[in-house]
Amino acid sequence: MTSETDRYAYSYDAAVLDGEMPAIVVRPENSETLGEVVKLCNDNGLPLTVRGGGTNLSGGTIPKPGGVVVLTNSMTKILEINEEDLYAVVEPGVVTAQLAAQVASSGLFYPPDPGSQTVSTIGGNVAENAGGLRGLKYGVTKDYVMGLEFFDTGGNLVKAGGKTVKCVTGLNLSGLMVGSEGTLGVFNKIILKLIPPPQAAKSMLAIFDSVKAASEAVAAIIAGKILPATLEMMDNFTIRTVENFRRAGLPTDAAALLLIEVDGHPAQVADDAARVETICRENDARELRVASDQHERNAIWQARRDALPALAKLKPTCVLEDATVPRSKIPAMIEALELISKKYQLTIGTFGHAGDGNLHPTILTDKRDKKEWEKVENAIDEIFDCALGLDGTLSGEHGIGMAKAKFMVREVGKASLDYATRIKAAVDPKNILNPEKMVRRNNG
Ligand SMILES: Cc1cc2nc3c(=O)[nH]c(=O)nc-3n(C[C@H](O)[C@H](O)[C@H](O)COP(=O)(O)OP(=O)(O)OC[C@H]3O[C@@H](n4cnc5c(N)ncnc54)[C@H](O)[C@@H]3O)c2cc1C
Repeated sequence: MTSETDRYAYSYDAAVLDGEMPAIVVRPENSETLGEVVKLCNDNGLPLTVRGGGTNLSGGTIPKPGGVVVLTNSMTKILEINEEDLYAVVEPGVVTAQLAAQVASSGLFYPPDPGSQTVSTIGGNVAENAGGLRGLKYGVTKDYVMGLEFFDTGGNLVKAGGKTVKCVTGLNLSGLMVGSEGTLGVFNKIILKLIPPPQAAKSMLAIFDSVKAASEAVAAIIAGKILPATLEMMDNFTIRTVENFRRAGLPTDAAALLLIEVDGHPAQVADDAARVETICRENDARELRVASDQHERNAIWQARRDALPALAKLKPTCVLEDATVPRSKIPAMIEALELISKKYQLTIGTFGHAGDGNLHPTILTDKRDKKEWEKVENAIDEIFDCALGLDGTLSGEHGIGMAKAKFMVREVGKASLDYATRIKAAVDPKNILNPEKMVRRNNG
């Protein structure tokens, strides 16, 4: 595709960054063509950005001006679901929720569930090491990648990992490729671990009159050695916004909500649910609502999934951050976010995966207002500093891309960045694979 309209459509992604026009957009329909495209780009020194659903929030699919965007949305085959050895083999463009549904129809479970799962792809999930609501108990995408095949810059198909539960042959190349954000190779096939689904689940809402109490309850549940499948939080601003967006019967006067699901064997579920309830009450929850049927359970999780779209409707620009801290530091992080919001007089709605320390402070603003945007940039800077000061990380799941590349040295240090830059230079000497993302040649 070379028309201006098509190129414009692939010039940006879900990050709040200005787009860049590629020279051409290509859509390979099979492995052979994908490999040829990679080789052609390398032979001609053309920067190449692979794109799955384009839902990443860090500018990972914004192309280099004049470069090539390679779409994977014609490579959508689920090649195998193996019920004996519990794995699936997929092409990179398979949509996450479609794989999860197909796997479920075989009586198995693929847990990673990013909020974008109905549109994001497995290739994009692996390249970003995507997380989601079930990360607390079930882990994130990296915990399910058994192996993969990718094209190197020469168009050679490199195999990493395999179909066995254990595999220690050679360097752990699939470990290196997970989270590589399209900078080290182009995935052609991915082998994913599947697990048996939990037999039962219980969802509940815990309602609090103070954010501090809710965040202390999160820390107490984890310290109580209970591992919910999902432990999410919403602050008052987010609760009210979600309720206005789609009525779910949320208590709009609550300071904070915890949305919790425990799953597993029915006896364990009953036990865990009772203990979670006790801990929430000990931490001043004013009310506990337990979903009594699938309809009520769906309503709780729909409300949680509505958080981002509901907030995003309020202002022209919505900056979704994902600085993450160790779970015990959640109360401190929440307090810091409140101070930052007051200091810069910014509207920040906070929700997210509190159980794994991965909150999503969401700044609502208008990027065209230069004065306010300056305040937003300063606030983001302070959020990162604060998370790092609490032994946290710049990104729990959204990746670095273009958005956070300049901050990386603060977290990992110069030696680590240099090491990564040397790996990138060795496997991609012409710097054609998603240049300027994550590891920049000159950002050490
Ligand atoms: C509403 C919303 C909710 C979200 N919720 C979550 C969440 O809960 N958890 C979470 O982790 N993220 C979340 N995200 C972020 C995003 O959906 C994830 O990062 C997702 O993994 C991106 O998948 P994608 O297919 O859209 O990839 P893209 O955005 O197309 O690409 C992402 C990166 O992967 C690379 N890539 C894509 N395909 C390949 C390939 N075949 N080979 C090599 N590299 C490749 C790209 O070059 C790019 O660097 C959310 C985003 C939105 C908009």
